[in-house]
Amino acid sequence: MTAVLSTHGLVARYGDFQALYGVDTELHEGEAVALIGANGAGKSTFLRSIMGLLPVAREMVRLNGEPVGGTATDRMVQKGIAIVPEGRRLFTGMSVEDNLRVAMDQAARIGAKGGWTLARLHKLFPILSEKARAQVQSLSGGQQQMVAIGRALLCQPRVLLCDEISLGLAPKVIREIYAALPEIRATGTAVIVVEQDVGLAQSASDRLYCMLEGRVTLTGKSGDVTRDQISKAYFGAG
Ligand code: ATP
Repeated sequence: MTAVLSTHGLVARYGDFQALYGVDTELHEGEAVALIGANGAGKSTFLRSIMGLLPVAREMVRLNGEPVGGTATDRMVQKGIAIVPEGRRLFTGMSVEDNLRVAMDQAARIGAKGGWTLARLHKLFPILSEKARAQVQSLSGGQQQMVAIGRALLCQPRVLLCDEISLGLAPKVIREIYAALPEIRATGTAVIVVEQDVGLAQSASDRLYCMLEGRVTLTGKSGDVTRDQISKAYFGAG
C-alpha cells in the first residue's frame, strides 16, 4: 500500500545549521502517527519541511507516491495537507466564524473538496457554534485550539499535521481536543501529532517516531514500545 505521506532521507537546514539528518517516515490513510522528542529535536522543522516552509529536495517528500518536496505551502494545502501550527496563529482581531470563513474561502479558491462544513465542525466542537460571534482573543486557549483545528479541517485535508496542540492547556481540555481525533480519522484523514506528553502521544497514535537531534531514534507501534526504549531514544543511549 502506498503511503499517503512519506519522507525519504529528509534533510533540512536553517542557513549553515542542519536541523534534520535524513529522516525517513511514512503515514498511511486514516493512520495516526505521533512524533515525540525533546525541545529542539527537530519536530517542528519536520512539519515545516513537509509544508513547503523550508527548502527541501523534491524526492524527499512524497504524497501518494508523488514527489512534492519544496512545493509552495498553498499548493501543499491544495494537495491535501493542512497544519495546525504551534501557537495557533489565528486572526485575533476577528470572530470565530470569520476565522473559519477565511479557511472556507481559501478552500473554495483552491478547489479543495471534502466533507468538512461549518455544521459538521459545530458537531465536533459545539463551543465553536456557541462562540461563533465572539472575538477569538476572548476565547480560552483550548477554545482557540479548536478554532485552529477547525480552520485546518475546512481545508479538507487528507493529512492533518498538529504541532503541540496540547501545549499550555488543562488536562480536561486536552482530553476534549484529543477526543476529536478518532472522528477526524474516521473520515480517512491521516494525522501526525507532534506531542511533548509521551503518554498522551502513545495513547493517541497507532505508531510513533521519536527524534533526537534531527534523527529518528525509535519507531514502532505505540502500544508496543517500552518506557525504556522511549527513554533511550529521547535522551540518547549514552
Ligand atoms: P520544540 O519542541 O522546542 O518546538 P522541536 O523538536 O520542534 O522543538 P525545532 O523547532 O524543529 O525543534 O528545532 C530544531 C533545531 O533547529 C533546534 O536546534 C532549533 O534551535 C533550530 N531552529 C529552529 N528554527 C530555527 C530558525 N528559524 N533558525 C535557526 N535555527 C532554528
